[in-house]
Formats: sequence, C-alpha cells, structure tokens
Amino acid sequence: MRLSKSALQTYLKCPYHYYLRYILGYQGPKAEVMQIGIDFHDRADKFFDNVSLKELANQTSIFGIESYIRSFFPEGKLYDNFTHIETVLYMSLNNKDEFMPLEREIKLVAEGAPDDCLDVGIIDRIDKINGETILIEYKSGKFRQGINQELMMYKVLVEQTTDYKIDKVCAIYPKELYGSALPSGVYIKKPSHEKQARDKVAYVKDMLRKKKWQQKKHNLCAWCDAADLCFESEMVVE
Ligand code: SF4
Repeated sequence: MRLSKSALQTYLKCPYHYYLRYILGYQGPKAEVMQIGIDFHDRADKFFDNVSLKELANQTSIFGIESYIRSFFPEGKLYDNFTHIETVLYMSLNNKDEFMPLEREIKLVAEGAPDDCLDVGIIDRIDKINGETILIEYKSGKFRQGINQELMMYKVLVEQTTDYKIDKVCAIYPKELYGSALPSGVYIKKPSHEKQARDKVAYVKDMLRKKKWQQKKHNLCAWCDAADLCFESEMVVE
C-alpha cells in the first residue's frame, strides 16, 4: 500500500478506483497521452543534466538562448513551448545561476509514518528564485480547475517530509502556451487554502489506514478506465 501523488488524486476522486489500482494492481489502458506525459517529464528532467550555464551566458541574443535550449529537445509543439517558457524564465532572472533547479524528481519519504504512508511521491522540481522556494509540477495536459488544491497538497507532503518551506506553487503547462485557459503556460501562486489541503491529505491517509475503499459512483464513472471492472464487481465496500 502506498500514497503517491497520483494515488492521492485517485483516492479523492474515488476510493474504489484507488483500491482497484493500488491494492489489486489494475493498470488500466496505457493511454498514448500518458506516454507523452512520461516522455515529457523525462526530457524536462534530463535537460537540466545537460544544459550549461556557461553556454547560456555565451549567447548574444534571446534568439541564441532559445535556440540553445531548443537543441536539447525533440520536435514537437510541447517542446517548442517548454523551450519558450524556460527562455522567458532565464531572461527574467537577475541571478542566472538560479536557472538550475534546487531539486528535481525528489522522492518524498515520510519518516516515522505508518507503512501505508511511507512513500508519498515524487515532486517534479523545486526552484529557488529571489529567495523564494517554488514547488513546480510539469503538466503535459490541459489546464484544469483544481490545480491549486493539487499543488497545495503536494506542498503539504513536501513540508511534512523535507526541511523545505514552500513560498509559491507553480504548474508549467506547455500545451497551454497561447491557449485561452492559461495564456502564459505557467500557473504560479502564493499558497492559499492550506488548511483544506492539509485536511485532505490527513483524511486520505486516515482512510487508507482504515482500509476504506467505498465506491463513489457519480456522473463521471462512464469515463473511468476501471468502470467495467467496477460495475461487474459484487463487492460492497465501506
Ligand atoms: S466506475 Fe466510478 S465508482 Fe467505479 S471505480 Fe470508477 S469512478 Fe469509482
């Protein structure tokens, strides 16, 4: 049993889906879009292994900076946009060293937590800019309402398991660059509704310890990738 970022989200959407996926091991169809997200995360992470601050500083124009960053990624609009976002970030920094994240893909382990909560997920990135510690998540899909609570729950997990104190939460949406929902492609915000996020994390952990997996049927069940399995099931769970 584990509580990762996606497990947390899954449980909040439907505890029975959590049960199917994380207790019974049901994988569901591996959607192409999921693979695109995995590749994107991987390439965004590797970019920082290979990019050189010296090379960036040697560039004599914004065009040069953008071309240099672009050279690390494959073809594709997602990568064009991510390059643009990172170029804008680089240009905005007073201290260019701050372009390199403090942390990438950090695995959060809750010391002293019960077994069912030991593994609490991997956070994509933490930056330190102008003295502020910023929790950053990559989102290869589209912007959706609720991102603030999602990021705030990750903030709670980070602060429960590390010494970091998060000053801002941020989601990078390369798909949304120039889009109508989020024109800049970047969602960034000072923490808000923290108690709500803290209560949600505590609630999910408590429910997992009590092994509560009740079905939560609602009008989105039709789109659930485990719907067939779920509706066939005779299982009545609390
Ligand atoms: S079909 Fe509905 S109730 Fe069943 S697992 Fe999916 S979301 Fe939950």
